[in-house]
Amino acid sequence: MIHLKNLAILLLMSAVAISCTSQEEVNLYSARHYDTDLELYDNFTEETGITVNLIEGGSDELIERIDSEGLNSPADLLITVDAGRLWRAKEAGVLQPYDSEQLNEAVPQELRDRDGEWVGLSRRVRGIVYHTERVSPDELAGYWDLADDNWEGRVCIRSSNNIYNQSLVASLIETHGVADTEEWATNFVENFARDPQGGDTDQIRAVAAGVCDVAVVNHYYLARLMESEDQEDQEVANQVAMHFPSEENGGSHVNISGAGIAANAPNEANATRFLEYLVTEEAQRLYAVANNEFPIIGGMELPPVLEQFGTFESDAVNVTAYGENNPEAIRLMDRAGWR
Ligand code: FE
Repeated sequence: MIHLKNLAILLLMSAVAISCTSQEEVNLYSARHYDTDLELYDNFTEETGITVNLIEGGSDELIERIDSEGLNSPADLLITVDAGRLWRAKEAGVLQPYDSEQLNEAVPQELRDRDGEWVGLSRRVRGIVYHTERVSPDELAGYWDLADDNWEGRVCIRSSNNIYNQSLVASLIETHGVADTEEWATNFVENFARDPQGGDTDQIRAVAAGVCDVAVVNHYYLARLMESEDQEDQEVANQVAMHFPSEENGGSHVNISGAGIAANAPNEANATRFLEYLVTEEAQRLYAVANNEFPIIGGMELPPVLEQFGTFESDAVNVTAYGENNPEAIRLMDRAGWR
């Protein structure tokens, strides 16, 4: 029979053994599925010794999962695209504020949550793609002007249940108020060349095919077509160009991909460390630039395809407003007949 004192020593020894072999890790719940992100996780592990465990899924699915896992959730970090979705995660109570001066210094204030529950990690501009023969650049101004009679039957855009469009309208509400934005939306919808269908790439293809003359899309979809080795994509890309609304015309709508630390993160310190890593130049090159997104930090060299789009002037609306105004935006688009 083991003496009680010996048992205590035995238990102590095994506890030491467990803590020595236990691996530092961080559990990422990610709605981003890019090969370059994998390379980034490897680099982080190499530099810090922290293993990255990746759980992929749709954004709403991951938020629901963290929520239902509750206190026992292994989630450390939620990574997704669009401030509207990050706001939903915050509203669902699955995030907690991060504590990092480094993040606050690296990421401009208008590109992170007002309460510090999530932070932008790359920038994406919702621009206006136009047919270079049927549209002259001086016809183009801002989103607001796409409601003018001049654009009747010439506009392609995806449906109102898409979060990118909801965030765009939420941003317009922030600047112009509900009543004026509703009037704008009603006229804008009247200018649609067809009932909304497909994704952003489909809108660009429709411009090239002559269905419409302009399309409102996220910039990286055009960048992707321009870089594609597929001949058909090349032909589409060759017929169109990107317009970013200037400050004078209301500015460009800038959204983010971003992340927040899970409310019950078991490895909170590692999650913070991972977020801080993501805003280093090395990580930004893989996380943002390799996917043709604009880096969240300043002073970085851009690939030729983004240089070609030229600089953009942001509409300066805080991304938190995309979430706050999201329910109103959805109702407004419905009233305006935006399907
Ligand atoms: Fe996208």
